[in-house]
Amino acid sequence: MRRVLFLFVLCGLITVSGARAADDMNAIAERYAHLVLALGQHDPDYVDAFYGPPEWKTQAEKEKKSLDAIGAEAAELLKTLRVERTAAPLVESSENGNSGDEMLTLRREYLQKQVSALAARVRMLKGEKLKFDDESRALYDAVAPTYPDSHFDEIIAQLEAKIPGEGPPWERYEKWRKPFVIPKDKLDAVFQLAIKECRTRTQAHVALPPNESFTVEYVTNKPWGGYNWYKGNYHSVIQVNTDLPIYIDRAVDLAAHEGYPGHHVYNSLLEKNLVRDRGWPEFSVYALFSPQSLIAEGTANFGREVAFPSKADRMKFEKEVLFPAAGIDGSRADEYYAVQDLMKQLDYAANEAARRLVNGEIDENAAVQWLQKYAVMDPKRAQQRVKFIKRYRSYVINYNLGEDMVRRYIEKRSGTDPDKRWSEFGKLLSSPRLPSGLTD
Ligand SMILES: [Zn+2]
Repeated sequence: MRRVLFLFVLCGLITVSGARAADDMNAIAERYAHLVLALGQHDPDYVDAFYGPPEWKTQAEKEKKSLDAIGAEAAELLKTLRVERTAAPLVESSENGNSGDEMLTLRREYLQKQVSALAARVRMLKGEKLKFDDESRALYDAVAPTYPDSHFDEIIAQLEAKIPGEGPPWERYEKWRKPFVIPKDKLDAVFQLAIKECRTRTQAHVALPPNESFTVEYVTNKPWGGYNWYKGNYHSVIQVNTDLPIYIDRAVDLAAHEGYPGHHVYNSLLEKNLVRDRGWPEFSVYALFSPQSLIAEGTANFGREVAFPSKADRMKFEKEVLFPAAGIDGSRADEYYAVQDLMKQLDYAANEAARRLVNGEIDENAAVQWLQKYAVMDPKRAQQRVKFIKRYRSYVINYNLGEDMVRRYIEKRSGTDPDKRWSEFGKLLSSPRLPSGLTD
């Protein structure tokens, strides 16, 4: 009897201290959210999404805290988080396949890294110049590998064997791939078919919140190809930039990256599982220049392979549905995608251009020329990319390095089993795991 009573009292103590610690963490998380909104007053790109209490935003606008004040508060918050780390671990039930204890550890680490990235962004806005790799480490919790020019030369030599003609590879490539442009009047129909397929495939494996939805807009004059604006309440606005021709491979890429199971699903699952079910306010705001972006872009890119686990699977859908809808000759689909596989290996060339440009080793013109040569881009595309690099700098690593890091993390856990891959992917989309947590 006495032992039972003792256990009862002990459980009571754990619950009380657990609840208090959870309150403390929520208070810290709220301060973080306010800081992100405050920094958004100095950097229009910084707050990518916010769907918390609207008065928080009004408050940030009214207060218009100085960068110095924001930096000081971030330092204060980091100190508090360090103290929290030594606090007793909490007990919480397991859900969404993420164990309770691990979720709380990840949450603390998440807040620490996000606040420390915020502090770095403050320093940058105050004029501190960071080298490319230092910047990506500070903002995105990761550093991209460096490749010599010869690495890209080897891939380009293989590419040249596949695309006939005279002139520099970018010119030959542009000419060769002309028949694979989606005609403008068919773009929306093709894109909607790709979205429908990606949604069906995602829905079969991931519990999407009811009423989730997005609208698609076609825009011009942007430095990016597509963008997901998450509005909260499980709704996104997806914008597709039509400045440059859109090729047939982009239909599934965009549908998976911006929609299912990419950004739209990631944001919806964070809102459902972390903001609403757990009451974690830090996820109601999304700081663009932060480690969270590597997870967001990495999962959005890798999502394509989760939705289409085999090449044969994807090719079947392309040939039977998308090519006919776009009025493109499906008999050349295999040939087209063999070239795309090579082009994908050139993704890291854009990181090299960005690294050199950010480090001041080359100027804008040289960056455009370098991209033409090593990323096999036509001048217009290379110029668009340089515009992107100038605005977002080391953010570029989040796409390809992010994808590779997410792939390694998921494959280590799931092997080649497509169902297991979906469940690990869903878990990652519903957790506060950050880039350094992918390699542990
Ligand atoms: Zn993206």
